Amino acid sequence: AVELHEVCKTYGDTAVLNGVSLVARKGSVIAIIGRSGSGKSTMLRCVNGLETIQSGRIDVAGHRIGDGRTNLRMLRQKVGIVFQGYNLFPHYDVLNNVTLALRLVKKISRTEAEEIAARVLGQVGLAEKLRARPSELSGGQQQRVAIARSLAMAPEIMLFDEVTSALDPELTGEVLKVLADLAGSGMTMLLVTHEMAFAQNIATEVVFMHGGKIWESGPPSQLFANPQTAELRKFISQ
Ligand code: ATP
Ligand code: MG
Repeated sequence: AVELHEVCKTYGDTAVLNGVSLVARKGSVIAIIGRSGSGKSTMLRCVNGLETIQSGRIDVAGHRIGDGRTNLRMLRQKVGIVFQGYNLFPHYDVLNNVTLALRLVKKISRTEAEEIAARVLGQVGLAEKLRARPSELSGGQQQRVAIARSLAMAPEIMLFDEVTSALDPELTGEVLKVLADLAGSGMTMLLVTHEMAFAQNIATEVVFMHGGKIWESGPPSQLFANPQTAELRKFISQ
C-alpha cells in the first residue's frame, strides 16, 4: 500500500506539492490526471524516494519516506517506476537489459535471472525478442521491455509516468493492454496518464491534480460523470 499524508514539496520558493494526501490500498489502480505542471510527476517521484519532501510523510510498502532514515535501495526494489522514455541500454539485447539489475542488485545467478526474464517478457508479449537490440524494436516494444525490466524485480507497487505519451497512436494500445493485464493481476499501481478512456475503464480511482493539490478523487464513473469543480470540468472538456 501507499499512503501520502499532507506532503509538501518545494523547489526554492515554488511550492510544487501543497499538502497532498492519498491512499492506495493493495491492488488499487490509481490514475492521476491534471494539466501540465500540476505536480503529477513530482508526486510519483516522491513515492519512489527520487525527491526529498519538505513536510508531511509518505509510507510505501512498509517504508517511511521523509524522516531521513529511509533505506532507498530497499524501497526502490519494492517500487518500480517506468517513465515516458524507456532508457534501455542500447548495446545490450532485450534479455540482458532485463537481467542486468537482477544480477547486479539482487545478486541472482544468470540461469535464474534468465528464467525470470523469460517469464516477464512473456507477460508483456515479447518472448520472441530476447536477442533483439533496442534499436531493432518499435517504441511500443521498447516500452514493454522497460515494463518487463521493472516487473523482473518483483515490485509490490508500480508507478507509471505517461508511459504511452511518446508513442504513435497505433503502438499505444499494446502498452495499455500490458498495463490493463497488470492491473487485472492485482498489482498496486499509480499511473499518470492522458488516456482518459483507459483511466475510465481500468482505474479503481482517479485523482485530479491542480496547482500541486488534489482537487478531486473518486471512482472514475463518479469523477468523469459528475465533476465537482470548474477546473475538472474544464480539464475533461479539453
Ligand atoms: P506534465 O504533465 O507536463 O508532465 P506534471 O504535472 O508532471 O506536468 P511536474 O513535472 O510534477 O508536473 O512539475 C510540477 C512543477 O514543478 C512545474 O511547475 C515544474 O516547473 C516544477 N518543477 C519540476 N521539476 C523541477 C525542478 N527540478 N526544479 C524546479 N522546478 C521543477
Ligand atoms: Mg509529468
